[in-house]
This record gives sequence, C-alpha cells and structure tokens, in this order.
Amino acid sequence: MHGFSYKNGELYCENVSLQSLAEEYGTPLYVYSAGTITDHYTRLDKALSGVNHEVAYAVKANSNLSVLRLLATKGAGFDIVSGGELFRVIKAGGDPAHCTFAGVGKTREEIIYALEQGIYSFNVESEEELRYLNEVAKELGKIAPAAVRVNPNVDAKTHKYISTGKSENKFGVDFEAIASLYDRAATELPNIKLRGLQMHIGSQLTSIDPFIEAVEKVIPLVTALKAKHGIEFWSIGGGIGIVYQDSLQSGTPDWWASKNESDRPLTIEKYGQELVPRLKDLGLKILLEPGRYIVGNAGVLVTRCLYEKKGSAKTFKIVDAGMNDLIRPALYEGHHEIVPLTEPTDGLTAKVDVVGPICESGDFFCQDRELPVFNPGDHIALMSAGAYGFVMASNYNSRRLPAEILVEDDDATVIRRRQDLEDLIEGEL
Ligand SMILES: *Cc1c(COP(=O)(O)O)cnc(C)c1O
Repeated sequence: MHGFSYKNGELYCENVSLQSLAEEYGTPLYVYSAGTITDHYTRLDKALSGVNHEVAYAVKANSNLSVLRLLATKGAGFDIVSGGELFRVIKAGGDPAHCTFAGVGKTREEIIYALEQGIYSFNVESEEELRYLNEVAKELGKIAPAAVRVNPNVDAKTHKYISTGKSENKFGVDFEAIASLYDRAATELPNIKLRGLQMHIGSQLTSIDPFIEAVEKVIPLVTALKAKHGIEFWSIGGGIGIVYQDSLQSGTPDWWASKNESDRPLTIEKYGQELVPRLKDLGLKILLEPGRYIVGNAGVLVTRCLYEKKGSAKTFKIVDAGMNDLIRPALYEGHHEIVPLTEPTDGLTAKVDVVGPICESGDFFCQDRELPVFNPGDHIALMSAGAYGFVMASNYNSRRLPAEILVEDDDATVIRRRQDLEDLIEGEL
C-alpha cells in the first residue's frame, strides 16, 4: 500500500498534487511519501512482534539523509555496504551500535572507520575477510563483532542480477563450510567476537517459499552455532518484493483484498505469520534487512514528455528523464508502471516506447506498451521508483542529478536540491 492516488482527476502524493510539484520544482523529480515509508516500517515491525527482532533498513535502497532520519526516529537500525553509508547514517542521527556492515569488498579504511564508530556487526563474506578483520582489529587494540554470511544455496527465483543465495553467486560462504569456519575463528582469531550469522538470498522475492526454504535449512546450523559459540543474532536478510506491475492500484487495501490467496503478492503479514513461528523459540535476536519493501512503492519519478516521434515501426515518447536518473529498466529489465499525472478519462490508449534523451539504446522506460494517451508538455509518473532509483542515478551525459521531495500530508520539502551546472564540474581541473 502507498500514498499515491488520483484525487479529483489529478495524481497526488498524500495531500500534495504532483502536477503542482512538477511546476514548482521542475522535472525530472523524485517524490517520496513519508507516510508510506513509516507505514511500511511499522507494519513490518508489527508483523514480527512475536519474536525478538530489529529492522536494519538497507541503506543502499534509498540513502537520502531525510529518509534515513525518518527511519532513525522510528527506531530502525541500518544495514550498510560502505563507509560512505555509515557516514550518512551518522549524519542522519542514526546509531552506529545499530548498524551492520555487509558487502564482499570492505577496505581497510572502511573497516577502521566502522570499528572506531562501534558498529553492531561486520557481516563477513569470506574466511579471508574474517582474518583480515581480525588483523586490523588487533592493530587498533579492538575486538571486532562479526557474523559470517551463509550462502544457503536456495533459488530465490528472481532476476539473475539480484539473486544472491545460490552457490554460483559471489555472496557468502558455502553452507557446508560455516561450522568449521566458526570453530577455526574461535581458536585462531582472538580479535573477533562471533556475534551472529547472516544470510540474504536475493531481492524482489514475491513468494514466501524461498524464505521458508532458507530459514528451515539454516535453523539447525544457527542452533548449533548458538550452542557452541554463543552467537546472539541471526540476520535473515531483506529481499521482500513489492508490486511493480499494478503499482498504482496496489496503493489501496481494496486491491489486496480483491485478490484470492493464490494471486495475491506476498504481504508483510504473511511473511510474519510464516516466519515468526519458525523463529520465535531459537533464543536469538532476529535481524531483518529490508530495503525495497520499505521505500520502493513510497516513491515516484515525475517526468515531462518533450517530443513525440513517430517512426516507421514505432512511436516514441521522448521524456526529460533518462537512464541516468532511473537505471532499473536498463540494468534489470525492471518494470515501472507509467501513469499520466492527469487521470485518463476517455479510455484511449496507444502502443508506445517511452524513452529518455541519452545516447544509448538501453535508455528506455518501456517498449511496445499500451499506455493512456499523453502528449508533449504532459507529465507522467514512473511508479515504484523509491528504491534503487535516485541512489543509482549518475551524471552520465553531463546531466544534473534530479531533485528529491519528501511529502508528509500536505507538506512538501525539498530534501535534495537539483544539481546546477557548477556541481557538474566540482573537483575537476
Ligand atoms: C541489498 C541488500 C539488502 C536489501 O535488499 P532488498 O531487496 O532491497 O530488501 C539486504 N541485505 C543485504 C546484504 C543486501 O545486500
């Protein structure tokens, strides 16, 4: 569910018209709903209330300071993947003691920074990294809290670029190798405190089955590690999927209620119902690392149609946002629902490609899609753009990074100003 809907024929974010924002701040423009972000966080927290747990928001999904601040005030912890993300969390008022640090390639500099800030756990992805962490901690006279990421070899049935829990992925340590690694670490690595176990099988999972499969597979392992090494937490990762296809309609509870059980995408309530009974008696703190679920459907990218170009084979709608602003279609074949800011009433549609201005054939938002008719000068919204949207934006083609707006009820705040031309050459000779 989310805070975007048509009201009196115009698309709104909560109680602010997107057309008015486009006119005031220009396009391309990211707009986020604060109410949706907090609602998602709160519902997940509630769905897991039967078990001792903590939500560590995956910062990489949307790392704007105001988004982080909003979640920090709700009590979220944070899952980071770089020293830069830790810096952002601290700037936003987040507590390093509630941060976990993921990723296969942590540098010495990042390890030192995180040790000095006192993070909760380094989530380590190889024996080599664990040994290196021990070495750096020893130099600093510190004990590094750590968890190893187990690769449970479960098929998450998601796009190959966002599947992470199979043996052929670069992530984690093989399931079979974990127990002996913890034994070696306990005797050979005095500057490591084995605090937990981590896993994350992939992103955009829309079925509960792979989550259950992974949890059930790893329960005996995590139980043994607790008995032998006294670990205190198990992070079961993120990966909860969101609705991309019918994004706008899925904003209302009615849409969810109208689906029968087998057609309904994974809900957070179902996630809790299935996992809590399996987790509640382990005596471990359960960490969750959702990114997309929290922010994905809480944001849209508003763009303006510049031209219509009728080719012999296709009709192109050229818009002022490009793959540098939102790369998901080019990178993951990601689908974003496209809706006009003015509610279509005549039912007319046309088959079009919506493309950006960038010199790449991959620079499109949809191909051969039946869309409500819109014309040059009209604005459209690319739905479900709150996660892996702005964070992946670049200056490619020397395009300025778009502005970001956070809406709360009838209040709209610029949480990142649009770059100006001088920003483009900052730091260059
Ligand atoms: C990316 C990532 C997440 C978040 O994934 P979502 O699909 O956005 O929930 C969580 N944990 C780790 C280790 C990740 O790399």
